[in-house]
Amino acid sequence: MPSTVNRTSLNLLFTSTPVGPIGSGLGGGVELTLHNIALAMQQRGHRVTVVAPASSDLANIEVIQVAGQLQPTAQTQGRQSPICLPENAVLANLWEQAYDLQDEYDLICNFAYDWLPFYLTPFFRRPIAHLVSMGSLTDAMDQVIGQVTNRFPGTIGVHSQAQAATFAFGDRCRCLENGLDLALYQFQPQADSYLGWVGRIAPEKGIEDAIAAAAKAGLPLKIWGAMPDPDYWQTVCQQYSDRSFHYEGFLSTQDLQHALGHCTGLLMTPKWIEAFGNVAIEALACGVPVIAYRRGGPAEIVESGKTGWLVEPDNVDELIWAIDRLDQIDRQACRHQAEARFSLQAMGDRIEAWFQSILLAADL
Ligand code: UDP
Repeated sequence: MPSTVNRTSLNLLFTSTPVGPIGSGLGGGVELTLHNIALAMQQRGHRVTVVAPASSDLANIEVIQVAGQLQPTAQTQGRQSPICLPENAVLANLWEQAYDLQDEYDLICNFAYDWLPFYLTPFFRRPIAHLVSMGSLTDAMDQVIGQVTNRFPGTIGVHSQAQAATFAFGDRCRCLENGLDLALYQFQPQADSYLGWVGRIAPEKGIEDAIAAAAKAGLPLKIWGAMPDPDYWQTVCQQYSDRSFHYEGFLSTQDLQHALGHCTGLLMTPKWIEAFGNVAIEALACGVPVIAYRRGGPAEIVESGKTGWLVEPDNVDELIWAIDRLDQIDRQACRHQAEARFSLQAMGDRIEAWFQSILLAADL
């Protein structure tokens, strides 16, 4: 007999990333993504509980704080790296909690890019939706995500087509993009004359290209983001001594949108296939055009010539060409694009339909 899930009011358990507490910035975009999906689901009358590493800060959402050692990030490992867990791993502790609590919930949504939740999926009594936050990075992760795709079709969500295409099973992933509470992002019709760069300051994000382009274009560059690897930042600073760039720290969403909104444009210069790029939609929401390399998630977000410019990857001269053409972009068009495609409502529709399809399949 099919189980009787109350589909108008679901009980949802979200398990967070184990690489850092929510609010620390160490988890990157997944922290904001989880928060926004939780808010979107609550607004629709669903109950959401988040299990997250101790010290997580999630306004207006019920959080169960779990102690334990943080997990190393997957993007710092090599392709053949084995799976490892530290002693008293918060990842294992989060999933022990989820296992114990599962009968109180209709569905579990996993936000961790880690092997354990995928491996554990068949052992749970409740269906698990996996929102995969990065592209293919290691063979072991590809294998375990592939196994879940085969055994539980439809349960793997991604943020962009480009991210999906990094996996051999990409055509069976569900593309969900992302969304924001646009009321928290103020439209800024006027720009000051400086450029912005936002993100984790880590090698895969390619900040050096943005610094080089801004310097050659003769505009100051303001930089916001978490700094997981201060040695990398020191190396960049030594390489570019002209000091036309400035690190402004890691800000709350409220302060970040205020500062970001005054930029002439946002530069996105990732060296990897960015799964999505929350910072692109945050900039658009403020009316800030985005200049990005034509690869990964940003290439599916920016409408070149309308809400920013897409340029040849790793080409600093093309970045400068685009910076010179920022005045051709209408800031109102940027805000409109965010409203049409990246609102909390639009994302909530996509996520809710995904959860419902997983529950339906689990009933059959
Ligand atoms: N961010 C922030 N404060 C800052 C700089 C960045 O909260 O001062 C957040 C930003 O809102 C975004 C995240 O950091 O959600 C970066 O996510 P993105 O998807 O762009 O890249 P990822 O780090 O996941 O690769």
